[in-house]
Amino acid sequence: MSARVLDGRALASHHRQDLAERVARVVATNGGRIPRLAILRNGGSPAAAMYAAGLERFAAGIGLATTTLEEPTAALFERVAELNRDPTVAGIVVAYPLADPELAQRIIELIDPDKDVDGATPTNAGRLLRGEPAFVPGTALAVIALIEAHGVEVAGRRAVVVGRSAVVGRPVASLLLARDATVVICHRATADLAAETLRAEVLVAAAGVAGLVRPDMVSSSAIVIDCGINPAPGGAGGVVGDVDPAVAEKAAAMTPVPGGVGPVTPMMVLRQTVESAERIARDVPTR
Ligand code: ADP
Repeated sequence: MSARVLDGRALASHHRQDLAERVARVVATNGGRIPRLAILRNGGSPAAAMYAAGLERFAAGIGLATTTLEEPTAALFERVAELNRDPTVAGIVVAYPLADPELAQRIIELIDPDKDVDGATPTNAGRLLRGEPAFVPGTALAVIALIEAHGVEVAGRRAVVVGRSAVVGRPVASLLLARDATVVICHRATADLAAETLRAEVLVAAAGVAGLVRPDMVSSSAIVIDCGINPAPGGAGGVVGDVDPAVAEKAAAMTPVPGGVGPVTPMMVLRQTVESAERIARDVPTR
């Protein structure tokens, strides 16, 4: 039997329509002012450029303005302070990776947590860990959105997350825990990965290792969410996930790569940007 396909493109499109309507309402109630998402870049990584370009395109599609600032690190410090103060700026995201990871962390720490629409600040990470309302990294929210859009109930079920990165594994685990799943987090030092993944009713792969999860590691009732975006072997371009595509022949449901978590991620950042814009519109008088 073949797995049900958890289609990220369809879900992203559904969110796009909803968000476009919400942006139009904010603009109408806010004296015609268009809320803005600021994207900070520093360094020439293709991944950062792709992330920024995707956000710009999707933001334009729902009627949000964007400003992409590509600057030397020292100037970024000043820019963040200005963006924090600017009431037309609803969200600030950093397109990873920056040229200097240590300085990137210092820049992120300057972002106003209320404008941190990609959940990058330690404040929002702390809120999430404590089970409080928080802005959350887009990929982690996309995982939950895909699970919920397909009517999968995680409460009381065994969820296994492979990977413990700050941007995917850890926040996904926190979100699943907040929804009453029983959560196991696996990582490089996990002694027997297959023994853990075989017990998963919900399996989230976020290890950054192409094809790590094979069919013999997955139960036939598992819902599998693949966060991997790895270069396809052979160097011919394209991407492959952390889950071997043959798992689709075995699992109950699975996200494709591409077309699963990928397209939903920017929509989640934009959803949080719209939430921030709605809050600012409520708080700031129009004149
Ligand atoms: P991502 O951005 O996809 O989260 P990172 O490289 O930041 O990727 O993190 C990779 C995570 O995956 C780490 O937490 C690491 O422990 C985990 N990981 C990597 N390889 C394996 C593996 N073979 N088995 C289990 N976990 C792994």
